[in-house]
Amino acid sequence: MGLHFHNTLTRRLEPFESVEAGKAGVYACGPTIYGHAHIGNFRTFMFYDLVHRVLEWRGYEVRFVMNFTDVDDKTIRAARAKEMTLDEYTAPFAEAMLGESDALGIRRADLYPRATVYVDRMIDLIQRLLDRGFAYATDDGSVWYDISSFEAYGRLSGRDLEQGRPGERVAEDEYAKDDARDFALWKGVKREDEEVGAAWDAPWGRGRPGWHIECSAMALAEIGDTLDLHLGGEDLIFPHHEDEIAQSEGATGKPFSRVWLHAKHLRVEGEKMSKSAGNFVTVRELLDEGVSPAALRHLLLSAHYRSELNFTRAGLQASARAVARLLDFEARLLSHPEAPAIGDRGTGSGDAEGEAGRGIRDAADRAIEAFTAALLDDLNVAGALAALFVFVNEANRRLDAALGDPSHGLPADALEAARAALGEMDGVLGILEVGRRSRSVDAELSAWVEERIRARAHARADRDWSEADRIRDELTAAGVVLEDSATGTRWKKLSEEG
Ligand code: AMP
Ligand code: ZN
Repeated sequence: MGLHFHNTLTRRLEPFESVEAGKAGVYACGPTIYGHAHIGNFRTFMFYDLVHRVLEWRGYEVRFVMNFTDVDDKTIRAARAKEMTLDEYTAPFAEAMLGESDALGIRRADLYPRATVYVDRMIDLIQRLLDRGFAYATDDGSVWYDISSFEAYGRLSGRDLEQGRPGERVAEDEYAKDDARDFALWKGVKREDEEVGAAWDAPWGRGRPGWHIECSAMALAEIGDTLDLHLGGEDLIFPHHEDEIAQSEGATGKPFSRVWLHAKHLRVEGEKMSKSAGNFVTVRELLDEGVSPAALRHLLLSAHYRSELNFTRAGLQASARAVARLLDFEARLLSHPEAPAIGDRGTGSGDAEGEAGRGIRDAADRAIEAFTAALLDDLNVAGALAALFVFVNEANRRLDAALGDPSHGLPADALEAARAALGEMDGVLGILEVGRRSRSVDAELSAWVEERIRARAHARADRDWSEADRIRDELTAAGVVLEDSATGTRWKKLSEEG
């Protein structure tokens, strides 16, 4: 079976067929950079990463584009409150988001277009919609999309037009328009917009783009008229993506995206996340708190993108244990002794080794098969993780058995097959990739602490008490506490990872 996706547009599981064989153009709706991205946003970004990695693993040449929404009601309001320009206000949040993404091992997109840089393209697109009769301007300098002109409107979300537009982000009553359901392509200028530098000249008047046209313009400009995949969180299906389709197809007359995928929203300790509920968690806070990035990655990745994912502290701890298990397993595979090649062996031991080796190779083959089948089936990552851990358990069992006679080791090709399988699976999951970084940080820290403890012991031997105290303070500042005892000095790090 090849790669299949559950397409929101058709509500069916479909084989993935890109416009150009072997290539995939992907557009993902990125964050609105008016604050630090929360853990829900990162569930969706982790899902983007999975799509990105799976496509590359299957051999696609991927063009992955994720935008930054740097002009909309929220960024303008926030910039005004701080008396900053839009760019001054938003730029640090884009940087922060990329830093957090890197920490979590999220592969970089090929391009991160920022809406304010594409205003010319938006103006061109709106002009095309006006020319083609899909839009109209009003006296206040705004331009509206006339949804009655686009027959397929509502197809993605399955809504009919009479249902109105609940969930619309814009306070529509501030503007004049023909029909309450029409949405803004361009918003006539307001004083607030000018104050933060969020106003541009357009043939129909000065103003700023509506949120939906931003994504259409960036996607068409950077990928082309027809995308292979368009990604977002489930809240974006309506109206954002419905409107993107109406705009893009209205302008080009071609299908906008072949496949639409939407990630279900994350919950926190079983509740919907919101600032008012006090359960609003940012990834930045978690990382600052010392939560392991690999554990967070594992947790955010662990559920199928169309099923509920509940973020809990207990879940985070379980994820930390899963990561540790993988790291231990990898270390074990790397250090396990290899048996001599068949011809060099003495008699008597070869059969047991051969059997253990075959067992490990079979387990590796079965794991790759199950892992692949799960991911090709609409990115069933829970199934893929299960295949991985079944493999870890089986291979560990074989290694335990071999250790019953440790001098014999295991056949090199079997160990190699196990390492290759683990490497292939982690190339998609990226958990070890991130976990190794913290382990090497831990190793560096230990080496440094041990060296400092030796220096302190020397200072004490020389009765240089102030130097000894200085070293202790240095360690304390690094979060390391010392315990002196008759047998020497032990140390531990405060705030162990969750
Ligand atoms: P925003 O910054 O609100 O524009 O959202 C950026 C991305 O995060 C979009 O794809 C949203 O659908 C997604 N998103 C927002 N809230 C959540 C949540 N609680 N769980 C999962 N994804 C979310
Ligand atoms: Zn978008």
